[in-house]
Amino acid sequence: MTAIMLFTRDLRVHDLPALVAAARADELLPLFVLDDAILGSDFAAPNRVAFLLDSLTDLRAALRARGSDLVVRRGDTASVVAGLAADVDATAVHASADVSGFASRRDRRLRSALGERGAEYHPHAGVTVVDPGALSPTGGDHYKVFTPYWRVWREARLRPVEDAPDRLPPLPAGVAAGEIPSRAELVDGEPSPELLRGGETLARQRMGGWIATAMANYPEDRDVLANDGTSHLSPYIHFGNLSPRELVARIDQRRRGGEDVVRQLCWRDFHHQVTWAHGAITTREYRPRGDDWHQDTEAFEAWTEGRTGYPIVDAGMRQLKAEGWMHNRARMITASFLVKDLYVDWRLGAGHFMHWLVDGDIANNYANWQWVAGTGTDTRPNRVYNPTRQGERFDRDGAYVRRWVPELAHIEGKRIHTPWELDDTLFGGADYPKPLVDHAEAAQRFLDRRGA
Ligand code: FAD
Repeated sequence: MTAIMLFTRDLRVHDLPALVAAARADELLPLFVLDDAILGSDFAAPNRVAFLLDSLTDLRAALRARGSDLVVRRGDTASVVAGLAADVDATAVHASADVSGFASRRDRRLRSALGERGAEYHPHAGVTVVDPGALSPTGGDHYKVFTPYWRVWREARLRPVEDAPDRLPPLPAGVAAGEIPSRAELVDGEPSPELLRGGETLARQRMGGWIATAMANYPEDRDVLANDGTSHLSPYIHFGNLSPRELVARIDQRRRGGEDVVRQLCWRDFHHQVTWAHGAITTREYRPRGDDWHQDTEAFEAWTEGRTGYPIVDAGMRQLKAEGWMHNRARMITASFLVKDLYVDWRLGAGHFMHWLVDGDIANNYANWQWVAGTGTDTRPNRVYNPTRQGERFDRDGAYVRRWVPELAHIEGKRIHTPWELDDTLFGGADYPKPLVDHAEAAQRFLDRRGA
């Protein structure tokens, strides 16, 4: 019996239920398809393509070490898989189930193409800790508010963590593995200069190291922008270099910081089950509030360039471009500023984040943007973050701003958060703009629009 293991965004060998099931076959074809529809879309941005290629290279090495290989093809996933299934006479295709609209359409087409050839499609758990839809409130198919979800999620019975297989069945005869292409062959543009490298090997090192050394400081450090006290595991989790289920198992929740990190992984599952139930999370408002968002290109451009005149906002936006990653607190502040102070459509902001974020993820990015815009699951949809107060609170002495907005680096202490109040001597002729809007007025305009 021959099986195909179709890798998508589960690029690992540890704790992968689909791989464990596929490895029961006599012959196994582990496959990754560079999908033309993704490569032709905005989703294929340089940061994520670079990370993907690192992940594929590492996965190929892990599969080779187990007597197998990674077969790489380019085209339409459903057609490529169906074609290969016919070539090698495969009777089963295993993959990890996913929640985006693209993944659902791909799976439907795949199931039907395989059905015509008498092969079966088997989706497995693996992308989230708890499957979307596995927990549901009375009278609904998903949870719409986080806290009740967290209460049932933390008590849920979890599947066992799977070991990485020691050996894998041989490849079917006559199948060429194919080259992993270079980044330049797949996408135009350069990745961020300080981008993390991808792959399961690095992911496991970071997971082990961070849990052992930094997790205990997470409760105090996670919101202190300059301390950089979060795990930076998000790109590894997004590409499936790490199993979120295994991560929960590795974290001792009785240890300091343990439960706090697990709660964040629950947020990730929460947004996945919202995406699974809502469908069009990237375009359609989950809870419309009657907004008539601006498509203001000038203000939007200033925001993307990190030149809004609010140092904490500009620092976040510049970190995004430099690292392909942004601190969670900065994501909330910058997103709130765009949608609530500038009243620009959250879809524009989410699209800009998607271009740069190496962890850019349909469920996490768009559901979080809708949360900030108050069109999603936030129970306080009209809250407006005050960028100055956020800066003074979470970047108390200005070290984060000083790192990312060097033209203000000479300003000492928390005065860096209000450069417009400084006299000429203290401002020192810095090439830094005046605020695009007055926050108090902008916040009031927003509340008036919402009738709040
Ligand atoms: P840690 O604090 O170490 O948390 C551990 C893990 O928990 C993260 O790796 C992530 O998988 C998960 N997590 C943490 N916070 C959240 C959250 N609020 N929602 C969902 N999962 C969370 N996260 C993404 O993975 N991809 C995105 O595209 C994305 N876009 C976002 C857009 C906005 C506007 C906002 C406000 C948040 C977004 N987040 C996104 C969530 C969060 O900012 C990142 O997951 C986090 O900053 C990643 O850093 P970390 O791995 O060091 O997190």
